[in-house]
Amino acid sequence: MKCKICAEESAPVFKAKVLYSYDVQYYKCGNCKFIQTERTFWLEEAYHSAITSLDIGYATRNVMFSEIVSSIIKFLFDKKSRFLDFGGGYGLFVRLMRDRGFDYYRQDLFCENIFSTFFDLGDVIRPETKFELLTAFEVFEHLDDPLSEIQTMLGFSDSILFSTELQPHNDLSNASDWWYFVPETGQHVALYNIDTLRFIARKLNLNLYSDYGNLHLLTRKKFRLNYIKYISWAHRNYNGLFSRHFRNRKSHLQADFQFIKSKTTKQEEKQ
Ligand SMILES: [Zn+2]
Repeated sequence: MKCKICAEESAPVFKAKVLYSYDVQYYKCGNCKFIQTERTFWLEEAYHSAITSLDIGYATRNVMFSEIVSSIIKFLFDKKSRFLDFGGGYGLFVRLMRDRGFDYYRQDLFCENIFSTFFDLGDVIRPETKFELLTAFEVFEHLDDPLSEIQTMLGFSDSILFSTELQPHNDLSNASDWWYFVPETGQHVALYNIDTLRFIARKLNLNLYSDYGNLHLLTRKKFRLNYIKYISWAHRNYNGLFSRHFRNRKSHLQADFQFIKSKTTKQEEKQ
């Protein structure tokens, strides 16, 4: 199969049960290391509910990103300008950023705007002007055609700040080797390596700044230092210390994830 990113040969790595129903082949590119699935035919079914019951990290993630993005904007961008959250889901992130004083708008073709109505892409005054920064959290791994979607994003802004987990260093020869595949939901169809992001940056003439974990910036701007790495590190460590000091309770997030996964697996098996 041809790699969707670099057009080199992508080789079969494993099959996984997608949506509890379909044996789907996953491929990995020998050149840019991008992982993709066979041609997708299950997406309509997968997006029956845009935000799945397994995505319980939604609230915490949005709060955390609102803090990190506030710092990134303050250091690297014009904070008086306006911003777009692409694939913004229920609009929680946009609401949080507007609460913090940033002129933020939401775009999402698949999800109802609950928290930031009247601040959707269609509500923007002077739509011909570009956005200072576009954010796209947990969007890239959903893209069936990443390059053309990134081009669409670049039409809105010269800078794309996005989250997606980078492939771990261990061998990925089975869907269970990495939690981020979540074939149960059928929604993660594009999985990136840092080499994939570097290839995309070169191909589209962009600069890449990454924390080498899950936060990345593709931009036409050039920065002297990799601020994404430093800001992301500072936030993670500071927040870690903060929550350990003031809240000695362990989060239920991981346990809840496993619990819901076992519940939904049982339900699906019964059907
Ligand atoms: Zn490739």
